[in-house]
Amino acid sequence: MSDTDYDVIVVGAGNAALAAATAARQGGAERVVVLEKAPEHMRGGNTHYSGGLFRIAFDDPEQLRPMVPDVEAELPGFFGNVTPYPESRFWEDLLRVTDGRTDPDLAQILIGKSYETIRWAHECGIEMEPATALSGVKVGNRITFPSGAVIRAVHEGVGLSRMWFDIVEKNGIDVRYRTAARELLQDESGRVTGVAVKGPEGFARLTARAVVLGCGGFEAHQAWRARYLGAPWDHAKVRGTPHNTGDGLRMALDIGALTYGQWTGCHSTPIDSEAPPHGDRELTDKSNRLSYPFSVMVNRRGKRFLDEGEDFQLYTYAKTGGAILREPGGIAWQIFDQKTVHLLEPRYVTGTPVEADSLEELVAQLPVDREACLETLNEFNEKAGAGVFNPAEKDGIASDGLSPEKTNWAIPLDSPPFVAYGATGGITFTFGGLKVDDAARVIDVAQEPIPGLFACGELVGGLFHHNYPGGSGLVSGAVFGRIAGTSAAGIQ
Ligand SMILES: Cc1cc2nc3c(=O)[nH]c(=O)nc-3n(C[C@H](O)[C@H](O)[C@H](O)COP(=O)(O)OP(=O)(O)OC[C@H]3O[C@@H](n4cnc5c(N)ncnc54)[C@H](O)[C@@H]3O)c2cc1C
Repeated sequence: MSDTDYDVIVVGAGNAALAAATAARQGGAERVVVLEKAPEHMRGGNTHYSGGLFRIAFDDPEQLRPMVPDVEAELPGFFGNVTPYPESRFWEDLLRVTDGRTDPDLAQILIGKSYETIRWAHECGIEMEPATALSGVKVGNRITFPSGAVIRAVHEGVGLSRMWFDIVEKNGIDVRYRTAARELLQDESGRVTGVAVKGPEGFARLTARAVVLGCGGFEAHQAWRARYLGAPWDHAKVRGTPHNTGDGLRMALDIGALTYGQWTGCHSTPIDSEAPPHGDRELTDKSNRLSYPFSVMVNRRGKRFLDEGEDFQLYTYAKTGGAILREPGGIAWQIFDQKTVHLLEPRYVTGTPVEADSLEELVAQLPVDREACLETLNEFNEKAGAGVFNPAEKDGIASDGLSPEKTNWAIPLDSPPFVAYGATGGITFTFGGLKVDDAARVIDVAQEPIPGLFACGELVGGLFHHNYPGGSGLVSGAVFGRIAGTSAAGIQ
């Protein structure tokens, strides 16, 4: 007769937690349970809402073939059109977008294990497809992909979440819905021995040899957003689950875990200004408005406020949501003409644009300072750059004499009809988290691992600061989830 209810308790049921549960089972833990705070119809955390994109390092596009063996039937010449994404490029991207602040040890784990972990997830049963609609750019009759952001889970986050639950079920792992972990239990030595929960039958205490926290950040906790991120984040719409209210962070901090990473930072994306306050299970990430590099973006005062063409969207979108939210009313308008409107990512079909045959008529329909806006657009057109517009590359077509300048894709708005989409900033997940080591053990304020406690996914602090390279969150979750589950299974 065992002395604990379980070998491993995994808190949360998103990508990180279910990778952890699967790895724990594979690592020899026989009795693994997943605790999901949400009811079954709301299960799966932010993972369900995600685009399912995986950023992974590879030296040779042929390395992707085992995960997408039939892709060339749909996209002839696929492997020839994909550029390698060696670890050094992933490093450059992560360092650049985080302003050099990413934790080098954690980043090495994320980058170094990105490919092998996603191969492992595929072998576990996560099916993949090219991320054409999400990151592909059509050039002539071929589709090119930004480096590293090439494959995603079949049926995006909805499919990813469903596939993980199927895998967990096949592995005989119990999932307990509507069961929220509330407190970590410890013995007198300080070892974590289980969790206190509130489930459908009320309060209970569940014991285990190890606990893995995979229960997300605090993006859905309005007061914590105000406390750590400050105004105007308490007003932000939440792109995903309402269930990530920082419970795992609170429970760990209560027993002396060390905070780590940028607690004032978060991932936030331009989304439809009419999006609901929390993620919509059907719409998932389709409220995104990420084609702004090809737009001129104005605020309510009719002014531009950032360099829309700083970089490809996957390297700026995670900070641009915050930039929009900080503008008056937390709203901006992305304006396109017929030279670029065909380049809008397919997700724009869920929006209702304002359209007109002249800039004057367009501006007349927007809730902006109209005089200032028209002046902004006319000045933009005068000072726009010249050259061969190329959406597949940073084409260097820059404005000259604007503040701020637009440094790529700065071609004039001169081909009617003109189209404008309203966007606001939606919060995705918070960057502040716990400090973990290379075995995903949670570190305490005395710089020692807390015995029996592991963390993964959004709870891991230190990787992302200010901004984020698209497709890294799911890979981080899978990498640290797999490590956490394997480590937890090793606890006797
Ligand atoms: C709209 C959208 C699109 C995105 N697209 C991408 C993408 O294409 N690529 C990418 O890499 N990243 C993407 N992301 C980010 C990525 O989805 C998340 O960072 C990732 O899914 C987080 O995984 P996780 O397992 O840490 O947390 P989650 O998937 O959020 O899971 C957390 C789980 O914990 C549960 N929980 C919370 N508190 C408790 C508690 N007290 N007890 C028990 N359970 C609890 C929740 O119900 C949930 O099941 C996107 C996110 C959103 C919202």
